[in-house]
Amino acid sequence: MTGIRDILDARRLIAHQLPETPMWSYPVLNAAVGVEVYVKHENVQPTGAFKVRGGITLLARMADRGRGVVTYSTGNHAQSIAYASRLYGVPCAVLMPDNPNPAKVAAVEALGATVEVRGATMVETAGHARDLAERTGRRLIGPADEPDIIAGVGTLYAEMFAARPDLDAVFVPVGSGTGAAAACLAAAALAPGCRVIAVQSAQAPAAHDSWRLNALVNRPVKTVVEGLATGSAFATPQAVMRDRLDDFVLVGDDEILRAQRMLLGEAHTLAEGAGAAALAGLLARREEFAGRRVAVVCTGGNAGPKELARLLAAL
Ligand SMILES: *Cc1c(COP(=O)(O)O)cnc(C)c1O
Repeated sequence: MTGIRDILDARRLIAHQLPETPMWSYPVLNAAVGVEVYVKHENVQPTGAFKVRGGITLLARMADRGRGVVTYSTGNHAQSIAYASRLYGVPCAVLMPDNPNPAKVAAVEALGATVEVRGATMVETAGHARDLAERTGRRLIGPADEPDIIAGVGTLYAEMFAARPDLDAVFVPVGSGTGAAAACLAAAALAPGCRVIAVQSAQAPAAHDSWRLNALVNRPVKTVVEGLATGSAFATPQAVMRDRLDDFVLVGDDEILRAQRMLLGEAHTLAEGAGAAALAGLLARREEFAGRRVAVVCTGGNAGPKELARLLAAL
């Protein structure tokens, strides 16, 4: 099981590749929320999302990486693995389900990975990825049940708690749960007084329901928020969250859109929906945290043209 030592090792390892990301508190945002809010800016990563921390850590530690890797994803996970593969000169194949977002295909191809479009659903695509890995001898990289990815993502929280060990809480958006699990591990070791609160879309609550029910369950995906559109729960992050997560909040897509607007207006920050979900979770609980010090992770800024249009129309 991943622990704080793995996270701190990963931090030393990625320090050569990724500078620490900023964490700012904006007076105008604080006034609007009524909380001393700290925004951790993963939207400024070279891939536009925090996941690259996990991808680089996994590839850096992979002893036989010359054999290449295969992964499957529609978005930020694919870019993370493609970016890390390019860094280490590793052949990388990404499988995406039918009708992918052309901007995301282009982003992955620009990083030197090959994209293969196969499968009507992510479950089918995962099956094709498994076959391809078996046929070619490449390593299959899953989205969440990967200890090195959790350790790498944990570097975000190692930075956060080194900068502010006195936070009262941190809100973390959840798709598969690697980020929230990493936050739990880092907080337990570095900021024991900081509560970790997960946030998911009420329109795709698989991780939330699994945590509440203490069982891995699947749920329909009706959210338009891409980074959070996960229909199943993953054993490794769920096991960590079961032990250590303090609370789990569900927010509607409309609340996420409102938080996206707030980040744009009060913190001049472009967040994709998933990148604003933490703030949406805090807004849903703002009375409880009035006057407290609370971090929200802006996990990513990869809003596509359709999402940008929706966001600007709402302003
Ligand atoms: C993947 C992703 C999430 C969710 O992270 P998990 O580790 O899968 O729970 C949140 N925000 C963004 C921008 C993402 O890309």
